[in-house]
Amino acid sequence: MQDEHKQGHEDMNPGDQAPPGTPGTGEDICPKCHGSGKLEDKPCENCGGTGYVVEGIGGA
Ligand SMILES: [Zn+2]
Repeated sequence: MQDEHKQGHEDMNPGDQAPPGTPGTGEDICPKCHGSGKLEDKPCENCGGTGYVVEGIGGA
């Protein structure tokens, strides 16, 4: 079975725009939970409870 989603997608969360380590991206504080990793006592789904997400940097 081939799974093309395997390549470099180990730790992606819903809020991530790219896999960790992708050039031109960086970790940023999760805009949903503001870095706490929780939303109202539940793990933040946007960042998977890590408190940060991977976003493109440099803009545009
Ligand atoms: Zn979050």
